Amino acid sequence: ALPVVAIVGRPNVGKSALVNRILGRREAVVEDVPGVTRDRVTYQAEWNGRPYSIVDTGGWEPDARGIDASVAAQAEVAIDLCDMVLFIVDSRVGATATDEQVVKMLRKTKKPVFLVANKVDDARQEPEIAALWSLGLGEPHPVSALHGRGVADLLDMVMEKL
Ligand code: GDP
Ligand code: MG
Repeated sequence: ALPVVAIVGRPNVGKSALVNRILGRREAVVEDVPGVTRDRVTYQAEWNGRPYSIVDTGGWEPDARGIDASVAAQAEVAIDLCDMVLFIVDSRVGATATDEQVVKMLRKTKKPVFLVANKVDDARQEPEIAALWSLGLGEPHPVSALHGRGVADLLDMVMEKL
């Protein structure tokens, strides 16, 4: 079986946009409506000739159990099924209380976790993401799923640890 990279994060942070950027095609549904990706969708991908699977997660919208419980449940499943987690945050919003809930779970796994700050469309935004060090997940990696900034560097790092 191929190694699996899970894309995890709140609705609207740009998970599906990043998956599309990584795949180099538009397959994952990008929506302005949060929570459009239902549950999990797996795609085959390749970087520098190495095949792997990438899982776009969704279903993070609040349900009867409330937002934090539903997010925690999704995160748990994603962490279990993967070999590595890319935890995506919206650099323009910063870390929210819901992000903190997911981080609690991510800190418990021994699998590699990369903190990805999306929507850094411009180099001038890069200093702002330093605040994300406080999440305790190590260095925040700036990317723009929209423009492709930083994505190749991110994939190089991912492949080193996958
Ligand atoms: P998901 O819910 O996490 O899968 O988020 P989506 O991929 O559906 O994107 C949510 C919204 O953020 C859409 O309006 C995207 O166009 C926008 N978006 C995603 N990535 C970027 C980015 O790098 N820069 C900017 N400016 N907007 C982005
Ligand atoms: Mg999505």
